Amino acid sequence: MPLAIKPRRDLIDEVQKGIITAGIAEALCEEAIAHYDHLYLGSAFGLTEAEATAFLQGANITQLVKWRVRGWPDHCSRCGMALVVEDYGWVVSDGAEDQLLHVNCFRER
Ligand SMILES: [Zn+2]
Repeated sequence: MPLAIKPRRDLIDEVQKGIITAGIAEALCEEAIAHYDHLYLGSAFGLTEAEATAFLQGANITQLVKWRVRGWPDHCSRCGMALVVEDYGWVVSDGAEDQLLHVNCFRER
């Protein structure tokens, strides 16, 4: 998304402020992915690239609000080694909340 273009909405901010529910935000995002593509989550709904990526991997909006407010995990929940969200190479844990794993973690599942 070019920096000059401001997203039309900021869904995560709206959920955080109680303007819309997480369920409505999720429905809007699901619809956007179905009809457009995931880039729409950034350009129209104000999700960062990391937030859109995590949403596509199954993170729910409540989780994304938490990460935006408190900060994202900075380590892999499997091996405990550092993980830099901006550098990618991570996946949202499908078993536990609030956790990211290295996509190629050296430690076996
Ligand atoms: Zn790891």
